[in-house]
Amino acid sequence: MTSLIGSIRHALGFTAARRGRERSPGSAQHDGERFRNVKPRPVEGFAKTLSIAWNVLVNKPSGTVPTGALPVDTLTRAQLEAAPDRSLYRLGHSTLLLKLRGQFWLTDPVFAERASPFRRLGPKRFHAPPIALADLPPLAGVILSHDHYDHLDRETVLALAATTKVFLTPLGVGDRLIEWGIDARKVRQFDWWQGVEMDGIAFTATPAQHFSGRSLFDGNSTLWASWVIVDDDLRVFFSGDTGYFDGFKTIGERLGPFDVTLVETGAYDKLWPYVHMQPDDTVQAHADLRGRWLVPIHNGTFDLAMHRWYEPFERVIGLAAVRGIALSTPRMGERLDLAAPHRGERWWRKVVEVVDALDVAEVADAPKTPRRWFSCRGAGQANS
Ligand SMILES: [Zn+2]
Repeated sequence: MTSLIGSIRHALGFTAARRGRERSPGSAQHDGERFRNVKPRPVEGFAKTLSIAWNVLVNKPSGTVPTGALPVDTLTRAQLEAAPDRSLYRLGHSTLLLKLRGQFWLTDPVFAERASPFRRLGPKRFHAPPIALADLPPLAGVILSHDHYDHLDRETVLALAATTKVFLTPLGVGDRLIEWGIDARKVRQFDWWQGVEMDGIAFTATPAQHFSGRSLFDGNSTLWASWVIVDDDLRVFFSGDTGYFDGFKTIGERLGPFDVTLVETGAYDKLWPYVHMQPDDTVQAHADLRGRWLVPIHNGTFDLAMHRWYEPFERVIGLAAVRGIALSTPRMGERLDLAAPHRGERWWRKVVEVVDALDVAEVADAPKTPRRWFSCRGAGQANS
């Protein structure tokens, strides 16, 4: 009976409300009830909410999911153990494996088949992870940006818990991990501008403009953040999810410049500019941050918007070329040397035939082929 009442209270959001309140005395990001952004989110009327839902569910254009198999460099544990320090591997969406000082750190780990609360419903991944979860080497830590399904997968973090020394999270996200059974001694939770030094590496949770929640009743009961990682003279920025805001300038001034910025470029739409960035915002954010190399993330794994799956890459390479920004697009599983990044090949073009009807400036970096719509090559399933 007690557990039934507990479940009902949990479903109705009582746990969520407590999670936010208990974790945040003194946090400027908490209003006593929920977490909030610096600039309030514009109130969206019922009509707009309905139009977003209608577009996403009914009006989905073609091309948001690849029909050909994506090139993925498979990885072995031995390979990772032999890799030099300052290596970075994209394992998916915003899942990035960093090797620093001989140890491994993993951001927003999602190895699930779908970014969804449901096993058989919701956005299905385009490609298998480059390495199986069970084959990963032990982790010094997991770094979480927020609690949405495409960034925090319950099964993944539970599977990692035994071999991970610490989970670094924004306020409240760590409470979720503890509720799920992860040892509280492994969980460290931070407000914006707070951080910790571990094994000589400094991690700082920094602002972002987003939102959180995993059910209808727990909106903004946990905080969202970007992260700054500093290993001696190497400075890396990880955006998590965010709309464009003036916080990038502040982060750049206080903790930049950055050798590499890992910035979200995907799942954007003109209907939700406040919570995700268009590619032109991404390159501006990179400039504000005083970044040297830009690695666009939050793309190529899940279909979470209405743009074609490869559009974020095409738009951001064009914009970066125009602005003289060094851009790197490693394949999933390809090693990127954080100390000396390389441009990477335009791997998505192996799956789709160029070229698109995007703005000329945006595809300035594209090969000189006749302008026509992409058509997907190969009949293989993306997940095969
Ligand atoms: Zn996301």
